[in-house]
Amino acid sequence: MDSHQKPSSAPHVLLFPLPLQGPVNCMLKLAELFCSSHLQVTFLNTDHIQRRLLSCTDVSSRFKRYAGHFRFETVPDGLPADKTLTGEQIGELLDSMEAVSLPLFREIVRSSVLLSDDAQNPLTCIIADGAFGFAVDVAAEFGVALMYFDTISPCGLWSILSANRLIQAGDFPFKDDDLDAPVTSIPGMEGFLRRRDLPSFFRIPDQNDPIIQRVLKEERQMKRCQGLIFNSFEDLEGPILSQLKTLVPSVYTIGPLHTHKETRLASERGSKNDRNSTNSLWKENKSCISWLDNQPAKSVIYVSIGSLALMGKKQLLEIWHGLANSGVRFLWVQRPGSITGLDEENDAGIPLKLCRATTERGCIVSWAPQEEVLAHPAIGGFLTHSGWNSTLESIVEGVPMICCPYFADQQINSRYVGEVWKLGLDMKDTCDRDIVEMMVRDLMEERKDEFSKKVDHMARLAKASVSNGGSSYNALNRLIEDIKLMSQ
Ligand code: UDP
Repeated sequence: MDSHQKPSSAPHVLLFPLPLQGPVNCMLKLAELFCSSHLQVTFLNTDHIQRRLLSCTDVSSRFKRYAGHFRFETVPDGLPADKTLTGEQIGELLDSMEAVSLPLFREIVRSSVLLSDDAQNPLTCIIADGAFGFAVDVAAEFGVALMYFDTISPCGLWSILSANRLIQAGDFPFKDDDLDAPVTSIPGMEGFLRRRDLPSFFRIPDQNDPIIQRVLKEERQMKRCQGLIFNSFEDLEGPILSQLKTLVPSVYTIGPLHTHKETRLASERGSKNDRNSTNSLWKENKSCISWLDNQPAKSVIYVSIGSLALMGKKQLLEIWHGLANSGVRFLWVQRPGSITGLDEENDAGIPLKLCRATTERGCIVSWAPQEEVLAHPAIGGFLTHSGWNSTLESIVEGVPMICCPYFADQQINSRYVGEVWKLGLDMKDTCDRDIVEMMVRDLMEERKDEFSKKVDHMARLAKASVSNGGSSYNALNRLIEDIKLMSQ
């Protein structure tokens, strides 16, 4: 079939990501995979994200090859134009979207279900971010199928969806001095989970807090969807995926999505890889790749806290001194605006001073081509905030991690990395230069061989899952087939 023409029977999917770097990146990758399988895709972005995406990436020219199969739609998010979101403000974003974007989303669904025109077929299915509880109501109103794509980790989602169990067992709410108490009320996580490992919302001391009420509602809404999509793979999270199937029987585990996309599209196009295509919302600084080219194999630790977390002055200094004292080379992403608490008059020189002090062993950029960085032979470790995309990207490339979680699922991801998968060290709730130094040395030198075995094994399983016949490869085929069946 010629993918440049609109086939009259192509199923039409509306993808609606949470307007943040991780979810937008994942959904765009899914969009490319769908288009290459001849599905028609409408990608619903907020105005803010669309503007940044178009200015930082080649996305419009990349999707030109799918003309007739792919189009963007946009809705406002209701936030001020200059608003830069942090992790703590996701609740505010969701409230604003419910007030402002939801009526427009409803209208887009209404017109796409009821009308088809020369450019698009009637809507077959909505795939919305799991945080959009309202999407299942809209889908039900217009009789269209809805699946949720939760781009956080399955283990993170399962713990969030267990909020009721935690309350009933007395595991939540809890006091700060109870952080080390074991949590035994989440099926599949008995034996290794402590209260400090629960997603950050559970540190709120009041179960009537609006954020907790939102979490409780998420379980009720999620049960009503036709399918749940995850960016993970069976060999990594089989036991938790089985638990999630008790809530929503149709689970499609199709990750690691970035590798899946590269593998499939490369084999279809006969080209080697597609890593240079980016969905970054910041301009990538590629100079760090030439810097890495000049470093010895596995000698550099990559440091990044993702797209939403903020680093205070104290933490900045502790990490910096820890890295400097370890003697290990580093590549550090310092996102514009991500360092807080610097007093303009007295502290303005700090980053520069520290930078000069370590300049031969360090490289600092404002945003990196992360997938390419993690795949570089010079990288031997990742000091990460444990965002799910970063965790998976590290797993695929066999890079061991030091986890320094901030919010949402990051606390539980880091526990899994350190205690369940043994792919690195969990540094949560500490911020001390001696610990940073010790962990960097352990990861990169002392315990290098021990971690190497574990990460290489998991990287092989990750790659196998997206190869022809692997579990994620088959799950994506099943997802595409199920959507095609819905349109018949
Ligand atoms: N990322 C990147 N360059 C950077 C830092 C991060 O491309 O310098 C990408 C990274 O590859 C990942 C995403 O940003 O895909 C961050 O998502 P994650 O889920 O790890 O964390 P979040 O930003 O949602 O906290």
